[in-house]
Amino acid sequence: MRTLVTGGAGFIGHHLVARLLSRGEEVVVLDNRSSSSPMPDHPEATYVEGDVVSPPALDGRFDVIYHLASVASPPRYLADPIGTLRASSEGTRIMLERAESDEAVFLFASTSEIYGDPLVNPQDETYAGNVDVESPRACYDEAKRYGEALVYAFERTNRVPDSRVARIFNTYGPGMDPEDGRVVTNFVMQALRGEPLTIYGDGSQTRSFCYVSDLVDGLVRLVEAGERRPVNLGNPREITINEFADIVASKIQHTGRDYRPLPQSDPLVRRPDITRAAEALNWRPTTDLDNGLDRTIEYLRTFSA
Ligand code: UDP
Repeated sequence: MRTLVTGGAGFIGHHLVARLLSRGEEVVVLDNRSSSSPMPDHPEATYVEGDVVSPPALDGRFDVIYHLASVASPPRYLADPIGTLRASSEGTRIMLERAESDEAVFLFASTSEIYGDPLVNPQDETYAGNVDVESPRACYDEAKRYGEALVYAFERTNRVPDSRVARIFNTYGPGMDPEDGRVVTNFVMQALRGEPLTIYGDGSQTRSFCYVSDLVDGLVRLVEAGERRPVNLGNPREITINEFADIVASKIQHTGRDYRPLPQSDPLVRRPDITRAAEALNWRPTTDLDNGLDRTIEYLRTFSA
């Protein structure tokens, strides 16, 4: 089995590559290193530096392509909206064409962001979403929606008949970039440094946090199960950002709160309905927030000195 992972040097990609290698797969990573994990490369994998939008030559045929390449942290995609739009639109088309010529299975890493600021909670895969094309987050949301639409178009026209779409919800764990600006890394790093936790808005907005090994397990199962409909992958335990701050503070130290304005069109709720993943993939997360956060804090501690 020969597998290409675009974005394989990123946070989720790093863990996915480890899992594929442990299954005996030959893994090639294509990554432009724009938002790499600080974890070292896997010596058994082949790393090719380059962009999905203008990829370098990749020799040989792939059986499976996992297309993960994209920035995913809000501050990062807001800083490069055009690059973000290109990675999931042009980049996805180019990688689909590669899957077509290789007759490979193609997995597209989509996102809970395609539901936008959802008007239903939890979100199941039939929910069409509430996305504002004028909002700053649209560079990510709309690009991923377009990427999904491309996958379905390549499937319908029989050009890439064997495709998968994973809608990935908030994921955390060791290997995150401590400076990625997301809530998990921000709160843990702030508590470790004795700084107040920066809460955007009043902290009543919700998220559901999935531990990275659970997520990777879902991605691999999705490829194996042959499910062609989009599948939510996330942990259904939903908490407010205030509750999350309390949990981090209780595990590290209480450093107070610094309330800041809520970023524009920040979703107020987010929680996956994972019925489809449970039924079609026999998948559900097994690591609870308590354990997963302990492991993440242990990892992030090395950066706080
Ligand atoms: N957030 C926060 N403080 C931070 C970083 C994020 O309150 O220092 C909030 C953010 O406004 C959002 C939630 O935490 O409501 C999750 O943000 P994150 O950037 O991790 O990911 P998102 O789910 O928005 O993609």
